[in-house]
Amino acid sequence: MSDRKLHPESLMMSHGYKPELSEGAIKCPIFQTSTFVFKSAEEGKAFFEVAYGIREKREKEELGLIYSRLNNPDLQILEERLCLWDEAEECAVFESGMSAISTALLEFLSPGDVLLFSNPVYGGTDHFIKQTLTRFGIEVIGFYPWDQHRLAELVQASGKADRVRMIYVETPANPTNTLIDIRACAALAKALSTAEHRVLLAVDNTYMGPLWQHPLKHGADLVLYSATKYIGGHSDVIAGACLGSKELIARIKGMRTFLGCMAGPWTGWLLLRSLETLKARMDIQARNAEQVAAFLKAHPMVEQVLYLGALEDAGQQAIYDAQCLAAGAMLSFTVKGGEAEAFRVLNALKLVKLAVSLGSTESLAEHPASMTHAGVDPEERRKLGISENLIRLSVGVEHPADLIADLGQALNKL
Ligand SMILES: *Cc1c(COP(=O)(O)O)cnc(C)c1O
Repeated sequence: MSDRKLHPESLMMSHGYKPELSEGAIKCPIFQTSTFVFKSAEEGKAFFEVAYGIREKREKEELGLIYSRLNNPDLQILEERLCLWDEAEECAVFESGMSAISTALLEFLSPGDVLLFSNPVYGGTDHFIKQTLTRFGIEVIGFYPWDQHRLAELVQASGKADRVRMIYVETPANPTNTLIDIRACAALAKALSTAEHRVLLAVDNTYMGPLWQHPLKHGADLVLYSATKYIGGHSDVIAGACLGSKELIARIKGMRTFLGCMAGPWTGWLLLRSLETLKARMDIQARNAEQVAAFLKAHPMVEQVLYLGALEDAGQQAIYDAQCLAAGAMLSFTVKGGEAEAFRVLNALKLVKLAVSLGSTESLAEHPASMTHAGVDPEERRKLGISENLIRLSVGVEHPADLIADLGQALNKL
């Protein structure tokens, strides 16, 4: 076994945890503590030197525990385990997906810089980019999926190409499942980089969880997650994560220390527990989604199914083949009619719960136009294909026949 590289799912129960340091407990206890006792003043000094970047960590030196806003065993082990899925060097966890995203943007953008971002992005991210970053003198340029083939031209035409410092994309886009080409964005980031300024590519990978898409392998510098979704997977915890190189995550951890958005030990413990079943859950969810999508596609009251396993556009299929490992468990569909018909279906669902969020064990349905995307300008919604008759579905781990029966009886109300 010693020379065998184990799969992440085989390591999720033990990686990074030493039972002998915790009375032999097979599971990592919850280290519900705010601060840690130093063995000596010299040790405390050494820990702070490394934590505050006064000197580099010496070879074989163990980074000591100081204070739970900086580090805590539950969170450190969680970070090590999350690295395995994306094969990242380092990970930083946060108390929410939004704090992971906002901390990464704040660390790498300064007044006068330009952020290039894909549309649509998660509502909270959209608000933070357009309303908050712009207050600090950061200029933002949004682009649409249908413009991605001429993105370099658009950036040049803006006259701001030399000030672009970050490209931020969400793929697949919520709720339409439109894909953005990660490799093309990475190539553009490289082309816009100079000796003084490296342009970073950040990808919100929440929709594909850590299993079905690995942006770092396609040239992204940072991967972001709302761990509230697939990683947590039980709709009972809010958390976030950012992964990348040692160098970049060290900077993000510095910003996290001062914004104070580290997750708590209880959140870390819940996520360690969730990670043990991540692969099993996501495999079942993806299989269920395939069956649900096939059922919806054949239903006479359904107009269109937006699902990565049934793409109709050759360009989108090419991106899928290059960067996605599975079609995932998120799909959207339009019913014949408008908002009233969509609502009738949503109100009739019994097993599938009417709620926002995604990636959990239970299936969830919602109406993007009036719920998750209610804040998007109506004209913009129309352009993005977020229509009044669109329903978004996050497929859970229930028996697929039960899910199909529930969707069938709801659609039959039309
Ligand atoms: C939910 C979500 C977020 C925000 O995460 P929180 O954990 O709710 O803060 C960001 N991006 C995407 C794609 C999401 O689905």
